Amino acid sequence: MMAKATLRKGIVSLLFEQRECPICKASSDGVCALCLKTLRPYGSFAVGDLPGDALFYYCGTAQALLHEYKNHHCFAAKDALLQYLIQWTPPGGFTPDCIVPIPSCRANLKKRGFDPCGDLARSWGRALEVPVVQGLINLRDGQQKKKNRNQRLQNLQQAFALREDTIHQLKGRSILLFDDVATTGASLRGAQWVLEKLPEVSLRFLVVARASPLA
Ligand SMILES: [Zn+2]
Repeated sequence: MMAKATLRKGIVSLLFEQRECPICKASSDGVCALCLKTLRPYGSFAVGDLPGDALFYYCGTAQALLHEYKNHHCFAAKDALLQYLIQWTPPGGFTPDCIVPIPSCRANLKKRGFDPCGDLARSWGRALEVPVVQGLINLRDGQQKKKNRNQRLQNLQQAFALREDTIHQLKGRSILLFDDVATTGASLRGAQWVLEKLPEVSLRFLVVARASPLA
C-alpha cells in the first residue's frame, strides 16, 4: 500500500511539475518565459590563472533554478539549465575534447542521492556529442564553510584526486571543467591543481553561476 501511495504521489507530482513553472508557480510547461527573462548573463572571468565563464549571476532565478534542480531534482529546472548550456559557445576558439564535471563531496552525495553536476554534464555532453569524463574524485569532507581562508587554501591541493582509469582520456586534451556555482573558485582551482599534473593539458571552465565571495 505504501509503495502504491508513493508511486501515485510521484506520478501526480511529475504531471503537476510539467504544468507549472517551478520558480513562480504560474501555469506553464516548464520554467516560464517571464522567469527566464530575469536571468542575468555573466560572462568571462578567471580564478587564479584559470580562465573561464559563468552563464549567470548567482541570484534570483538562476539561484532558484539551481536550488530546485540540486535539492528537489526538478526536471523542468534541469531542462532550462540544459538549454542554456547547449546554446553556450566557448569564447576564444576553445574547443573542448571533453567535459570534466566537479564531483559532489560525499556528504552532499549522500544528502541529495545524486551528483547534480555529473548528471547535468552527462545530459549536456550527450546533446553536444562531447565526451564527459568523470575523472575526479572529491576527497573533501563537506566541511568547507567551517574552515578559515588559510585552511581552505591549504586544503585546495588535497581536494581532488585523479581517477587512474580515466588518465588516458585526459592526457594532452582540451578539458572544459564544469561546476554549478563558483564563489571563491576553490573547487575549480583544486581540480586545476590535479589536472595540470597531466602532460599537455589545456584547461578552461564553465560554471552555471558566479556568486560574489562577499555575499
Ligand atoms: Zn515562472
